[in-house]
Amino acid sequence: MVCLEDMTWDPDECEYTYCCRCGGRFGVSKEEVEVETQRMLQIHNDEEMHKGQHSGMLVCCNTCSLTICVTWLLKKNMQMSK
Ligand SMILES: [Zn+2]
Repeated sequence: MVCLEDMTWDPDECEYTYCCRCGGRFGVSKEEVEVETQRMLQIHNDEEMHKGQHSGMLVCCNTCSLTICVTWLLKKNMQMSK
């Protein structure tokens, strides 16, 4: 399990990357994170958010079959302005 904060932000690809032990890499786009965050914010109410709710998703390595679970803490201020 890997925290989103531990991943490397790649401004060129607009995604968070993390090196796999095989030499490949895991990649999760900013958009995927935002969509998942929005989905989770709609599911959980304010009270639950104050307790610190985590969101996460499975990400596959681009060269081997390994998957990692990338998690991040949901925060109210992550809500995107429309
Ligand atoms: Zn790999």
